[in-house]
Amino acid sequence: MTFHELQFEPELMEGLDAMGFEKPTPIQQQAIPIILNNKDIIACAQTGTGKTAAFLLPVINKIIQTKTQSIDTLIIVPTRELAIQIDEAVQGLAYFAPVSAIAIFGGNDGSSFEQEKKALTHGANIIIATPGRLIAHLNMGYVNIGNLTHLILDEADRMLDMGFSDDINRIISFLPKKRQTLLFSATMPPKIRTLAAKTLTDPEQINISVSKPAEGVMQAAYMTYNEQKLPLLTELLNGKKIASILIFSSSKEKVKQLERELLRAKFNVAAIHSDLLQDVRTEVLRKFKNKLLQILVATDIMSRGIDIDSIGLVINYDVPRDAEDYIHRVGRTARAETTGVAITFINPEDQRKFKSIEKLIGNEVKKLDLPGHLGPALHYNPAAYVGRPAKKFNKPRPQNTRR
Ligand code: AMP
Repeated sequence: MTFHELQFEPELMEGLDAMGFEKPTPIQQQAIPIILNNKDIIACAQTGTGKTAAFLLPVINKIIQTKTQSIDTLIIVPTRELAIQIDEAVQGLAYFAPVSAIAIFGGNDGSSFEQEKKALTHGANIIIATPGRLIAHLNMGYVNIGNLTHLILDEADRMLDMGFSDDINRIISFLPKKRQTLLFSATMPPKIRTLAAKTLTDPEQINISVSKPAEGVMQAAYMTYNEQKLPLLTELLNGKKIASILIFSSSKEKVKQLERELLRAKFNVAAIHSDLLQDVRTEVLRKFKNKLLQILVATDIMSRGIDIDSIGLVINYDVPRDAEDYIHRVGRTARAETTGVAITFINPEDQRKFKSIEKLIGNEVKKLDLPGHLGPALHYNPAAYVGRPAKKFNKPRPQNTRR
């Protein structure tokens, strides 16, 4: 299938050309005709598959055709970063079309609230919002939402994980009953099915191989004791010419600590986590995107949805909490058919978690040899660690810390 066959309006085709999109990705091939046909969708698709354009393209096309001047589409997302990123995708795809959009999210100053209020009153065509901030506006009564025709819930599983279930229901209570609803989620736990049953009407289902990281990612892992992780990381980073490296760790404390350690070692690095002000987060992401910053250290919140092209190397400093998150993290590399490398550090306690990741992706990830001078290597043996408390392990001291 080509974009041409989808018979998009010329302004949208120009946008596609300018973005360099030549042919629709599998999720776009499946979803776009259904959305153009005004049917509800429940789609299981991970970031990196082209899911954003899968819902934006048909919606933008319809807005060009109806020439509506009011709010047509509401996209609800879990994080500010995702809101900004979708807004940027609209700006790109609809560059030649008379379609307006605004991203609405908390954490910035009063003047942006006023700007949002204006857009919501006068009707930007596409609103991309995090739940809390949108409710603040809806409660004030000026949001002109009566002509809404599309509701899109993006990364619905993450929104429920973050406790937004009541907020989503509250938002939906403000919307016209007759509308088209599209639900996108990386995973399909029962609570997503429940949400879908409540919000969708006779939906078509789409499933894009969620359990496989994008093809083209080279995956590998090191077995490490905790005290070997930092020396191993600095060794891996040393001399790397890769322009963009993304490191994930399990908590914001660890992310801050890693940033400090890597700064001390003179790497071009910054961290992003929820303790930072929105302006700082946006600036860090901008620098990383523009390749002014080589290394970004991030918490889980970054692992889904953030669309930064051509990340050459992803390092999981800790094994992600659930297996699906691994796929999402690894999905930061090898975007849209390029290649990339994803390396995971596995400590004794995380071996079982990693085993379940391997089960989910359907193959064993190659274990690389730890450089000898970092001390004795841990052997991969998930079964041996079932139920044993971490402190019982006899952890060797890495040799290079001896004086
Ligand atoms: P997403 O899964 O929506 O985060 O998209 C992943 C990446 O693929 C983004 O950088 C998009 O700009 C890019 N992309 C989306 N659709 C296409 C397409 N049809 N051709 C080439 N790149 C695309």
